[in-house]
Amino acid sequence: MAQALKATVDLSVCNGHGRCYMTAPEIFDCDDDGYPVVLGEATTDQQIADLTRAVNNCPEQAVSTAPVG
Ligand code: SF4
Repeated sequence: MAQALKATVDLSVCNGHGRCYMTAPEIFDCDDDGYPVVLGEATTDQQIADLTRAVNNCPEQAVSTAPVG
């Protein structure tokens, strides 16, 4: 299994497009204003792949990751 990742969103640059929570719905939810909320770490291969896509597809480059453990 790939390295587990923890996601962080820089809300000072996030514009609430929603690509992250549509791309990685197990990692991100959205708040009432459409901004992302991190639900938890990416631990499965699918979650890690989804989170990596979310990082690469964020128009504002607001999503970053760090290895867990
Ligand atoms: S894709 Fe990026 S800019 Fe859009 S809501 Fe997610 S973190 Fe914010």
